[in-house]
Amino acid sequence: MPAQILITNDDGVTSPGLLALKQALEVVGEVTVFAPDRNWSAAGHSKTMHKPLRIGRVTLADGSPAYTTNGAPSDCVGLALLGAIPNMPDLVVSGINQGGNLGHDITYSGTVAGAMEAVVGGVPSIAVSLDAREWSDFRAVTGVVVRLARAILAGGLPANTFLNVNAPPVPSNEVKGVLVTRLGQRVYRDVLVEREDPKGEPYYWIGGEPPTGVVEDGTDYGAVARGYISVTPLSMDMTDYQFMEKLGEWLGE
Ligand code: MN
Repeated sequence: MPAQILITNDDGVTSPGLLALKQALEVVGEVTVFAPDRNWSAAGHSKTMHKPLRIGRVTLADGSPAYTTNGAPSDCVGLALLGAIPNMPDLVVSGINQGGNLGHDITYSGTVAGAMEAVVGGVPSIAVSLDAREWSDFRAVTGVVVRLARAILAGGLPANTFLNVNAPPVPSNEVKGVLVTRLGQRVYRDVLVEREDPKGEPYYWIGGEPPTGVVEDGTDYGAVARGYISVTPLSMDMTDYQFMEKLGEWLGE
């Protein structure tokens, strides 16, 4: 039986990045697409518990069928692992996101949340993003994802670990290579935008320029800034082990 691969994203089921990922992974296994019916970018890891979730069927731009839901990316994966659609996945791949998910972005990212929900359910996963506001071609990054998918299906990943892949905003033939990285430092440039509604009450937007980051060797941001595809192994274990002893001293233990 071919490997079962579930594809989701946070940009919504009509995203070209989702279709590119689905078409690339068809050489690895049997692919099922289950993605949100709207854009959930920056929705983070969520579980919808206060409204009903609906599952619909749609046709992708290449004529193939897909499942969609009114829930978040993590709901798509959660619903699939609970058996709401056929084909229990052996691997979940989330993306390709329009925009990088680097450094602290991973805590906001719906793309990464889709991969995290898979890990919670005991299924290995990959999050994939292209650090570009305009789509360029996907061949370089999908080539890396296919290699990673084959390796994971053959050998698995450590428990609690998943992979976060980010591609630079250049054509595939200009990508310099692939680097294994750690999380880097994002620099957010959010500004508070205050406006007034027709009743004279203030309302707010979080505005400002897109984030930048610190270009540092060994990091995801540094790799992508220098034209490499970054692959970061992320752990769901966020414990700061180095700080535990000091913390114990504070508490007198
Ligand atoms: Mn997105």
